[in-house]
Amino acid sequence: MILKILLVVGVIAVIYFFFIKKKPLKNNKKADETQQSSDMVECSRCGIYAELSDSIISNNKYYCSKECLENS
Ligand SMILES: [Zn+2]
Repeated sequence: MILKILLVVGVIAVIYFFFIKKKPLKNNKKADETQQSSDMVECSRCGIYAELSDSIISNNKYYCSKECLENS
């Protein structure tokens, strides 16, 4: 009887952890994606922080605008 209860509890625990472990992984991946898209990078010319998606990358350096890129 006790073994049967333990078996049932064990199966429930496995299912529970399977679903609980799966969900946060998905959420973390989504959070990472949104974090990456809104990453702030420092302009190597004027030091202003610009969004990664708005910045210009040249020679592994970030620039906030074309002006900074040309004047660097
Ligand atoms: Zn700049």
